[in-house]
Amino acid sequence: MLDALRAEIAALEAAAAPLEPDAERRRTLAADALDYAQGFLDALPGAPANRNWEGVRPLDGEFGDEGRDLAELIAYFHRAVAEPGITTTSPRFMGYVPGGGLFHSALADFLAAATNKYSGFASAAPGAVRLENATAAWIARVIGFPEGAAGTLTSGGSLANLTAIVAAREARDAEGGGAVYLTRFAHHCIDKGLNIAGRGRAPRRLIPTDSQHRMDIGALAEALEKDRASGIRPWLVVASAGTVDTGSVDPLAGIAALCARHGAWFHVDGAYGGLFMLCEEGKAALYGLDAADSVALDPHKTLFLPYGTGAVVVRDGRHLLHAFSASADYIQPLGETGVGPSPADLSPELTRHFRALRLWLPLQAAGVAAFRAAQSEKIGLARYFHARLAALDGWEVGGPPDLSIVAFRFRPGRGNTDAFNDRLLRRIQEEGRLFLSGTRIDGAPWLRCAILSFRTHLAHIDDAIDVLVRTAAALQSEGRLSAQ
Ligand SMILES: *Cc1c(COP(=O)(O)O)cnc(C)c1O
Repeated sequence: MLDALRAEIAALEAAAAPLEPDAERRRTLAADALDYAQGFLDALPGAPANRNWEGVRPLDGEFGDEGRDLAELIAYFHRAVAEPGITTTSPRFMGYVPGGGLFHSALADFLAAATNKYSGFASAAPGAVRLENATAAWIARVIGFPEGAAGTLTSGGSLANLTAIVAAREARDAEGGGAVYLTRFAHHCIDKGLNIAGRGRAPRRLIPTDSQHRMDIGALAEALEKDRASGIRPWLVVASAGTVDTGSVDPLAGIAALCARHGAWFHVDGAYGGLFMLCEEGKAALYGLDAADSVALDPHKTLFLPYGTGAVVVRDGRHLLHAFSASADYIQPLGETGVGPSPADLSPELTRHFRALRLWLPLQAAGVAAFRAAQSEKIGLARYFHARLAALDGWEVGGPPDLSIVAFRFRPGRGNTDAFNDRLLRRIQEEGRLFLSGTRIDGAPWLRCAILSFRTHLAHIDDAIDVLVRTAAALQSEGRLSAQ
């Protein structure tokens, strides 16, 4: 009987062999993938930033029993996945909030996946966990947090904000009933986070904003005092360190002082802008960020990583541990190893991607100074874009950018300004050379230029201005023709 079983198992082993390519095969597979990636990156300077995607079809008989040739799969990936849609790796991608996707991180992901170290808890992979903690500690230092802060890497800014909201709930609103303060420019993930955290129905105060779309500090003070006077406890103030719409930074130092006075938890959504603390210009714009209780960040934006890495740091790290540590019996025998807390005790996740390597490796290989310079360059480019557009006829821009997003629109002189700007944005997106996105401010459409890719340089900004001027002129003359 055992012989029959052995024969059956041996046959299965042979059938499963495609899962384990030999050394020679691995080398060819990796070379094919690398060649493709090189070609993709080499083509970026001339490639469109947006492509139409009608007719993206699945592979014939997707998920069949037979394995396929990798070359065929890569060809499919190119035409059906890499090409259609927005090219976020393009230097002319300036929509939403760019990042770019560092090549070093792609290599780190490869190493992390090939070694498959278990970064959930310390005793399983002390080296990986030390690296996670060192990376989180570096981020906390960049933010200006003291010793005793703790942080964890998340999948993105939404989960970073959620994690902070849960820590804030456990620290200051365990019983519920506390009020939340934010502006209408708060990212919608705050709403989601409050809902998931069971605080979707918490009393919510929408604090007015000033002419630069920053939280009005006098209005916040009033709202806090009014709640206190009527017996409602201020729980959570959510400020933005870089709104997505215009990149505006709320007056952080003033908000921090009010939070301290009224016992509210001060959370900053810095998913777009918080990590600009690395450079001097950013530090000046983000004055007061280091006084927050928690900060949500997005290394896949402001440190240029490929998508999939957010971060949250909490000033008093015990609040993070308190909210998320849940030791399971089967983990305990492995014990602690002196490399700091286990990521599983600081976040809702247990088994997870070894995220730190994709941040650690580029920081080591390129050096921190290169990141700092790229960030300063982005802020400089945004100031340049703003100044150039402001000097051209017909363009309306707000005040100088706090960070690296500029909101603007064209005033066509006659005709409907809103309809014109809707058309302008659509035309630019359809043309695809440049990718911009828009927003609505007080109901009116504005275009945004979000400069954050490490690949975006001076020539691309000049190019973007040329595209804008040319497209606006074309739309105007089309308008004149159709009016005749
Ligand atoms: C991007 C962003 C988020 C959401 O982060 P994800 O990484 O997309 O989940 C939240 N807040 C702000 C200010 C952002 O820019």
